[in-house]
Order: sequence, then structure tokens, then C-alpha cells
Amino acid sequence: MRHDAHGWWIEEAGPPRALPPLAGELDADVVVVGGGYTGLWSAWHVLESEPGARVVVLEAERCGFGPSGRNGGFVQSMDVSLPTLRERYGPAAAQELAAASAASVEAIGAWCEAEGVDAWYRAAPHLIVAAAPAQDGVGAAAVDGATVVALSGAEVRARCASPLFRGGVEVKVGATVQPARLAFGLRERLLERGALIFEHSRVIALDGATAGTAGGRVRAGAAIIGVGGASGALRPLRDRLTVSSSHIVLTEPVPDVLEALGWTGGEAISDGRTLLHYLRTTPDGRIAFGWAGGRMAAGARTTGRMEVDPDVIARARADLVRFFPALEDRAVERAWGGPIDVSPTHLPFVVPLPGGRAHAAFGYTGNGVGPSHMAGRALAALALGRRDGAAALPIVGAAPRVPPEPLRVAGAALIRRALVAKEAAEQDARRPSPPVRALAALPARMGMHIVR
Ligand SMILES: Cc1cc2nc3c(=O)[nH]c(=O)nc-3n(C[C@H](O)[C@H](O)[C@H](O)COP(=O)(O)OP(=O)(O)OC[C@H]3O[C@@H](n4cnc5c(N)ncnc54)[C@H](O)[C@@H]3O)c2cc1C
Repeated sequence: MRHDAHGWWIEEAGPPRALPPLAGELDADVVVVGGGYTGLWSAWHVLESEPGARVVVLEAERCGFGPSGRNGGFVQSMDVSLPTLRERYGPAAAQELAAASAASVEAIGAWCEAEGVDAWYRAAPHLIVAAAPAQDGVGAAAVDGATVVALSGAEVRARCASPLFRGGVEVKVGATVQPARLAFGLRERLLERGALIFEHSRVIALDGATAGTAGGRVRAGAAIIGVGGASGALRPLRDRLTVSSSHIVLTEPVPDVLEALGWTGGEAISDGRTLLHYLRTTPDGRIAFGWAGGRMAAGARTTGRMEVDPDVIARARADLVRFFPALEDRAVERAWGGPIDVSPTHLPFVVPLPGGRAHAAFGYTGNGVGPSHMAGRALAALALGRRDGAAALPIVGAAPRVPPEPLRVAGAALIRRALVAKEAAEQDARRPSPPVRALAALPARMGMHIVR
């Protein structure tokens, strides 16, 4: 099994040639910091609204080499989070947000079609399943009989016959993509539309809407910040997120196993754990199996064990075989991981930075492929001075705080370890110890919501 920081998706997509770094001074209408989906979709939406706008993207490394190019490729709405959204924003705003997020799932497919980008976009429902008795009832609060429907154990197993699956829900609007192909396609189309993109151009200073790198400076009318797990490096966002990690193992092609499981409909599946497992198939018959049980990062660190953690990979591989015993003797060819920007509510936020000329989006908590398109609409509208439409979506505004460092990392790591232990015990039908139960229950008692 090959472990690496960048993952199979990027290699499969054939990464494009790097673009030269920023050298010298430039004026622009909008400067975008970060070349992941948030930054790239924002740039796209700016150019859709104002085709003549001068848009400059500054990316620290390579566009799409971060989580945007190596995630699980689940394109999800927020439909299953509706109960949490209602609690936080009220029924009308919650509905508006869920509808906007579902529209983004479909808009990404329509964009791929219209732009001729082969990102393997495949519309397919998302199944959220109970894979242990403690997970029974997962997703039930969101069932409305239309966008989210309940499934019995037999109905779930008819779609994917894992012996662990006991029932769950089907979220109707959903899709999967090859994440790197989507990121590289976006970068390509932006270049064709006249955006200037500079790679290996880390922004080290931001003053209003002026962004400085080691090699130059962009003076803009507005700035958009989409730097994912690195958001905490910006002083105003330091106490707004924590960073954890998620890892994926990828099998060799196993079309025979998929056939035997009846898992041929392209469904994206996740289980009912807090540190969830997420699994999907690929067009060449592989299974990509992810686990969100990685460690917490100190500060805004997004490399090292955040990207390749052998312990987490070994557990994910063992869990893969527990889900699908027929894979016992089949090869796992690749494994990789990446940082996850976690907000206290597990919902993303679009926030103004001091001075009001820059806005940032972060906190997707592992559901950013679909929602970054929606956040990008909001960021673009705000950068163009609009205050209605996408700029007024309920996710726009102040983000709640997380506890300060060093309490944050120590506390979050402790809670995370307790969640891993609790969910492993529940998986084996053991009762977790009282201290583990108490620690694992802390986030909910502190008003922090785990929405998926
Ligand atoms: C293993 C894994 C699996 C996941 N699976 C899913 C999934 O199946 N479905 C889903 O919806 N979400 C998933 N996610 C989350 C999803 O990938 C993210 O929410 C999404 O990609 C966020 O995009 P972004 O543009 O905000 O951030 P990123 O993709 O992190 O992009 C930020 C970019 O900013 C750059 N940058 C950082 N600092 C600077 C700076 N100072 N100057 C310039 N550039 C900078 C970085 O190099 C990076 O390219 C997963 C994440 C991981 C790690």
C-alpha cells in the first residue's frame, strides 16, 4: 500500500503544469486567497456576474492539491442537517439554506456538463446508515418522506449488502465526483475566462484587500479568503475553528465484489458515527473508504500527520474489511489524508474580516464539496458589494467561538480519543466506560452540534 500526502485522485487526474508565482505589484478588482474549491468557485461566480472583473487568485502551493483535490468526492446538500439548521436559524432560513445547498449539488453537475469538464460527476443518493446498534435511528430526525426517506435494513442491504448495515436514510439529492478533476477543471476554465492565477504564492500579509506574498503584492477592491484548515492563521479567525484530519484508503479494482454486494448504483454511503466512515465506488470498480478519526492539529497546522497518519490508515483498512469481509485478501493500493476545518456547529460560515473589504469562508467540517459552491456564491456577491441574494444567506455573519488554545487542542484531542473509544466499543456491542461516555457527551452538553 502506498501512503502519500497527495492521494490517488490527483495522480489519476494528471496534475496540470504549475503556474508561475506572483512577481511584482498588481491591481485587481478581487483578490482570492486560496486555490481550493472555495477560492475557485468564488472566482468563477465573480466572473459570471461581472465578466470584465480583474480577478487574481493566489495559491500557496498548487490549486486543488489541498483537501479539495483529495477528498471523498461526496457532493452533498445540507438536507440531513435541517433539524440543526432550524434550531440555529429558524424554519424559513433553514429551508432556504437547505434548498440553496441542494441547488449547488445540481449546479456543479450542470457546470461540468456546460463547461465540458469530465469530473466523473454522477448524481446518486447519499445513504446514511446504522452500522452498529448504537447508530440505529441515524438521520431519522431529518426524514420528511421526500428529500430524506427512511430505509429498512433490507432496503439498505439491497443497495449495498454489507453485513453491518441495519437501516438508515436516503438523502435524494447527491452526487459523487473525482475531486481533483473538478478542482483542475475549475482552474482551467478560470484561466480561459481571464482570471490570473499564481501558484507557489503564499499570502503572508493581508491589509484590507491588499494581499502580499514573498514575491509581490495585489492591491484589490475586495478580498476573498478560502484557505480551509489554515484559516486559523488569520488573527480574527483564530478562535473560530479547530482542525482535525480524515483519511481514505483505496482498494484495487474489485468489480466482482461490487457486483456481489449489489453496490452498482453509485451511492455514496456514510455511517452513523460522529467520527464517521464514508465510502463510495469509482467508475473503475474501486472502493474509496474514509474515516474521520484522525488527530487534532495544533493551531493552523495542516501537514505531517494531518496528511499521512499510519495509525489512522491501519484502522481505516481494518474497518474496510469489517464492512466488507470479501475484501480480506484484496489489495488496498493507496492511502492518504488531509486536514478538516471544523466549526463548533459543524456548519460553514462566511464572515467579514475587520475593515469589511475581505470575507472568509471556513468550517465545512468535512462537507465542503457541495457547500463551497454555495459559499462561493455568497463570497462573490459580497466582494461585488451586493447585500442581498447569496450575500444574505444565513451562513453569512459572525461565527461562534471555540475555546482558546491550549485548552482547545488538549480538550478536543481528549474528546476525540473518547469518541474513538466509545464508537469502537459500540461497534463491538460493548458498553463504553463511564469516563469515556462522559467525555464523548461533552460537545453536545456544550451546545456543539454534530450534524453528520
Ligand atoms: C480526506 C478528506 C476527505 C473529505 N471528503 C469529503 C467529501 O467526501 N465530501 C465533502 O463535501 N467534503 C469532504 N472533505 C472536505 C472538503 O475537501 C473541504 O471541505 C473542501 O475541499 C474545502 O475547500 P476549501 O477551498 O475551503 O479548502 P482547501 O481545499 O483546503 O483549499 C485551501 C487552499 O488554500 C491554500 N492556502 C492556505 N493558506 C494559504 C495562504 N496563506 N495563501 C495562499 N493560499 C493558501 C491551500 O494551499 C489550499 O490549496 C474531505 C476532506 C478531506 C481532507
